[in-house]
Amino acid sequence: MELYHGELYWDTTWERQKFDSRERKELYDIAIIGGGMSGALCSYVLSRENYSIVMLEQDRVGGGSTSANTGLLQFSNDIMLHELIEQIGEEQAVEFYHSCKKALEQLQDVAENALIDVNFHTRESLYYASTVEDVERLRKEYEALKKHGFPVEFWDSKQIEAHFPFTQPAAIVTDGDAEVNPLRLCVGAIQYAYEKGMDIFEQTEVLEIKDSSSGAVLRTTHGEFTAKTVVVTTGYAPTPEVSIPQKDLKVTYAIATKPIKDLSFWTNRMMIWETKRPYLYMRLTDDQRIVAGGLDQNIDELPSSEETAKQFDELKKQLKVLFPHTAIEFEYEWTAVFGESTDELPVVGRHPEEPNIYYLIGLGGNGTVYSMLGAHLIRDELLGKSNANETILEIER
Ligand SMILES: Cc1cc2nc3c(=O)[nH]c(=O)nc-3n(C[C@H](O)[C@H](O)[C@H](O)COP(=O)(O)OP(=O)(O)OC[C@H]3O[C@@H](n4cnc5c(N)ncnc54)[C@H](O)[C@@H]3O)c2cc1C
Repeated sequence: MELYHGELYWDTTWERQKFDSRERKELYDIAIIGGGMSGALCSYVLSRENYSIVMLEQDRVGGGSTSANTGLLQFSNDIMLHELIEQIGEEQAVEFYHSCKKALEQLQDVAENALIDVNFHTRESLYYASTVEDVERLRKEYEALKKHGFPVEFWDSKQIEAHFPFTQPAAIVTDGDAEVNPLRLCVGAIQYAYEKGMDIFEQTEVLEIKDSSSGAVLRTTHGEFTAKTVVVTTGYAPTPEVSIPQKDLKVTYAIATKPIKDLSFWTNRMMIWETKRPYLYMRLTDDQRIVAGGLDQNIDELPSSEETAKQFDELKKQLKVLFPHTAIEFEYEWTAVFGESTDELPVVGRHPEEPNIYYLIGLGGNGTVYSMLGAHLIRDELLGKSNANETILEIER
């Protein structure tokens, strides 16, 4: 499955390392299928429990959707808290939002323990109302977040104008979010697990999983592997053994500008997004670029280069409208498949009939936070600990 086209900015920030395959063990505690962000964060969390682990990646680690990711990490989700309360009830919705907030702290821990700099920086987010009609929705969200103890402020249009070169009807500003280089975070987490003894086999596609009461046999392009438990983290690609009914594929667009000397007009280097759907979003990088994305389309295959060019022009136009006094030059642009779920939540949990196979599919714009939260949920299930997100995120919900 082709996941992206174009020139990816993050690829220029890291020289790919090939992981040496070690001699394979006869039986592993855990086999992780896929070496993207979900597999990486699972490997980080599970390697701390001293399981023997093998990671099987059909291509190279960090080469899937993770390298197309724009690296915004937020506790607020595509579905607002007050809307999630209507969807699944207050207790579960608030619990889920708190888990997302906690996942940000856990991601910081990964960043601090990584052997490479992953450019993790805590940031505030500016979430603005795209239209006057959306102000009420945003105020409701502000009240829900405030009531449940999340760090949030409500800004009117004057406050926005005082901090940015554009105006919008209103915004909420959340604290405790972060930006990261997603490719380096993914590799940093994998290196950590590798140092703790995880085996990694790149260029090894899993073709079939045969589950039995004592574990699972994985048939791959490089022979068989046996593990007591399998964790499937294959991203937006088809998952082995079960199809994920919630999965909804789209196409999205992202760009990175050339470095901009003076970014002092960008208050606190905040991450910015909006209430419109699909939303425009943006952030800054360590080397002074703007990375922005959006314009999602309801198609499940990457479009022609003509269509792609039109969308990039539109994205650039929207950015220039927000920052009319800045000379912006563009350097990288890429289009990618993007997976959402029909209820805007990730899918994490056990196969409905095969008790040794788990799935962690981080659908949605907040995929990295979901991968972190999901890695802990799977760890808890393996250790027999209860986890409040278990029923919210299971495949058959
Ligand atoms: C343009 C764009 C912007 C985004 N921005 C953000 C953002 O700002 N913040 C955020 O949190 N999220 C963002 N996301 C979402 C984020 O990228 C995903 O949540 C994340 O990459 C998913 O990671 P993954 O490991 O599940 O999938 P992937 O990174 O795709 O990794 C899956 C891996 O599994 C391997 N694989 C598949 N099948 C097999 C098999 N049978 N055998 C062996 N290996 C297999 C693949 O080769 C791949 O390496 C964005 C996504 C896109 C496309």
